Amino acid sequence: MAITIPVVWSDACLLHDPGGEVFVGVRTPGTEVAERALEIRRALEGAGAPFVDAAPHDDGAVLAVHDKRLVEFLSGAWDAWQASGLEADPGQDRVVPYVFHLPGVTSGRVPLEPAATWARTGLYAYDTMTLIGPGTWSAARAATDAALTAADLAASSRAAYACCRPPGHHATRATYGGSCYLNNAAIAAQRLRDGGFGRVAVLDIDAHHGNGTQEIFWERPDVFTGSVHVDPEAGWFPHFLGLGDEVGGEGAPGANLNVPLRPGAADDEWLAAVSSLCVAAAAHGVAAIVVALGVDAAGGDPESPLDVSEAGFREAGRLLGGLGVPTVVVQEGGYDLAAIGGLVLATLQGIEQGIEEGQRVGEQRG
Ligand SMILES: [Zn+2]
Repeated sequence: MAITIPVVWSDACLLHDPGGEVFVGVRTPGTEVAERALEIRRALEGAGAPFVDAAPHDDGAVLAVHDKRLVEFLSGAWDAWQASGLEADPGQDRVVPYVFHLPGVTSGRVPLEPAATWARTGLYAYDTMTLIGPGTWSAARAATDAALTAADLAASSRAAYACCRPPGHHATRATYGGSCYLNNAAIAAQRLRDGGFGRVAVLDIDAHHGNGTQEIFWERPDVFTGSVHVDPEAGWFPHFLGLGDEVGGEGAPGANLNVPLRPGAADDEWLAAVSSLCVAAAAHGVAAIVVALGVDAAGGDPESPLDVSEAGFREAGRLLGGLGVPTVVVQEGGYDLAAIGGLVLATLQGIEQGIEEGQRVGEQRG
């Protein structure tokens, strides 16, 4: 089945080579690689999808979501690391933290901006597995341009897909982690708000909790956030949050919905959770949605214990498209290189089907 949803692409997203990750102090190969995007591209080209180049957007759209200090740190982190000679001594070819500022360190007071380059990273990174190399900033910034371009396209039509990396949903307003640097889906959602959509939603079907997006919009009644993910209480990233009792801040009660699932959960449980996100978003009166599309909930993915099928992703797409509002799809996780292209294609086909079915219902009623 051919698809007509425009696919936004930037070659710059391929420039990010994290060089693996540091997990429990050990450098391991890592799975967030450029081949992911190329595999998706191959599958979507095979289905005749129209490709659109990501249009450059100025920093204002990024700073509408992220703290200026995080953006300044990320944009200069690699150059500062190189200038400090850390590649030669002690021989670390990626930016990685070695100390972290946790609130208890300064009893809640604002910490010093560390003078040492190797210490400054710990003000912004919340884990050791999200490494920065020479192409990281260019790719992360290009991913935001892809998400913004998709938001602009969807606002004037019905749907668009940003085929981008690195992913974004674990990045908060002022911190990065979880292989994410800038929160592409949140930036797209804010773009929709600034473009005149009164209420919007970010619906996150990645296997892991969209903790960054949740925190960015925690006090925002105008942006509903929902996430279905493997239960952090069963030992999964992001470990510190992602439970069902996190329903939004004091200023936005009911504007966040988490549906944590047990490891091993398959299509029935997962689709019921996706459906509950759709129902809640509709009840919130959203006029547009951003789908944070990770496909790592698929059975066989190396990064999650969920067991969703390709048919499950197609059906999830149908449910999301059935909301009948402009839909921006932003790529998040998905690490099974043999399956990722087919899973994304199936989801986008489902979204198209859901949109078309919704239009037919509308015409019959009209
Ligand atoms: Zn994930």
